[in-house]
Amino acid sequence: MIQMSNEWITLTIGKQKNIALIAHDGKKKELLEWCEWNKKVLQRHFLCGTGTTAAMITARTGLPVRAYNSGPLGGDQQIGAKIVEGAIDFVVFFSDPLSAQPHDPDVKALLRIAGVYDIPIATNRATADFIITSPLMTQEYEHQVINFSQAIRERSETL
Ligand code: PGA
Repeated sequence: MIQMSNEWITLTIGKQKNIALIAHDGKKKELLEWCEWNKKVLQRHFLCGTGTTAAMITARTGLPVRAYNSGPLGGDQQIGAKIVEGAIDFVVFFSDPLSAQPHDPDVKALLRIAGVYDIPIATNRATADFIITSPLMTQEYEHQVINFSQAIRERSETL
């Protein structure tokens, strides 16, 4: 549901959430364990993920996970685009802080766009644990983001 005001737009994250799952190679084992541990909760939501991560989660847990491209081949950007479209409500992204990634700019872009759209993004297991056990996982949640139509109108008139 979308409500318009002037400066802000109120978006509602539904009870059933669209969750994106991503793990860098050094963190895939950890994310698979986390998904297995949280399978009962995850199966109540819609899941998607970057290619390899999605395939591995389905193989390990049987959970249906819609697969985008592999991260280094644009999967993080596809997930970022889905955030822009309002089609992703929560991102679990176990990033590896100890190894360099060829697609580091894409990773940064995903973190940034999640910030722009006020989308919760868990970059480690403890954060993911806190979020997945939150009462908000079973409730609707209203949040406010910039009214982009209004921003475009103002920018096009003033720049
Ligand atoms: P992958 O991509 O799931 O295809 O490995 C994850 C990433 O490295 O961003």
